[in-house]
Amino acid sequence: AKQQGGNAYTLFNRKMQEELQRRIVIETGLRVALEQKQFSLVYQPLVDLQSGRIVSNEALIRWTHPELGFVSPVEFIAIAEETGIIGDIGLWTLQEACRQTKNWQRKGRRQLGVAVNLSGKQFLEPDLVANVRAVLESTRLDPSCLTLEITENVAIYNEDIVIQTLKELKALGIRIALDDFGTGYSSLSYLARFPMDVLKIDKSFVQNENEDEKEIVKTIIAMAHSLKLRVTAEGVETQQQLAYLRQESCDVLQGYLLSKPRPAADWTEAFIKNYDP
Ligand code: C2E
Ligand code: CA
Ligand code: CA
Ligand code: CA
Repeated sequence: AKQQGGNAYTLFNRKMQEELQRRIVIETGLRVALEQKQFSLVYQPLVDLQSGRIVSNEALIRWTHPELGFVSPVEFIAIAEETGIIGDIGLWTLQEACRQTKNWQRKGRRQLGVAVNLSGKQFLEPDLVANVRAVLESTRLDPSCLTLEITENVAIYNEDIVIQTLKELKALGIRIALDDFGTGYSSLSYLARFPMDVLKIDKSFVQNENEDEKEIVKTIIAMAHSLKLRVTAEGVETQQQLAYLRQESCDVLQGYLLSKPRPAADWTEAFIKNYDP
């Protein structure tokens, strides 16, 4: 038993050490990645349910580390938030997404929008609003074409500061979407206090096939509409899900059924030809 315990301890130790090592490689790699332009963006269409048209794209960051290979944003964004480099990464993402979208608009998609994820941590940066304004000015993207997606966890920060920041962002003319709705601890009263335009139902609800969960989706859509919010369903993968969302008057769809996220180059030709998935 003693022998076994010793082995388990060594194994545990080794695993912890490997995890720590990976963390350090990612942490130091993030700074290099920005300098050496290792990040890229992929774009996933948001499709209006009524017209079937692509109204916008969500920009999602991708990183291939020279040694580790593909690293999920779920992993490296969390580390970037802890180390503080998220501000610089977020700004690069915003700049690139707006630049690309303006480019597509010039090629003919005049009304095309773009949605960019904003880390909760970015809210704490006092120059966030000034940075967003600067990006809009330098890329000449119309503010009404930009949506910033925030998650419910911004609620862990001082509420007055969050509301004030959201008001200042909205004063620029941009839209705010509440991402991953249903996974955090936001309530109806919470929603009503925050200036928002769009509610994105988390894919865990959209993909659930049992009747109770479908009732939740139906209730979220009705509630959001009563608050004058548009509703996007994310993670739509099947025709059945689409049919249900149509029946319940969801506004916008996003998911593999319509398209996976793809690099900008894959979309440019499609947009010129006015193609929709
Ligand atoms: P998210 O903002 O909720 O983004 C949606 C995620 O769902 C994306 O994963 C997307 O590829 C995936 N997805 C889309 N359609 C489907 C579907 O039909 N089925 C399934 N199973 N998944 C689908 P991704 O790109 O791996 O990003 C994961 C998360 O990483 C994002 O979740 C977001 O929280 C974060 N993230 C990604 N890019 C950025 C960024 O530029 N900035 C920040 N702050 N966070 C980002
Ligand atoms: Ca998102
Ligand atoms: Ca989401
Ligand atoms: Ca998510």
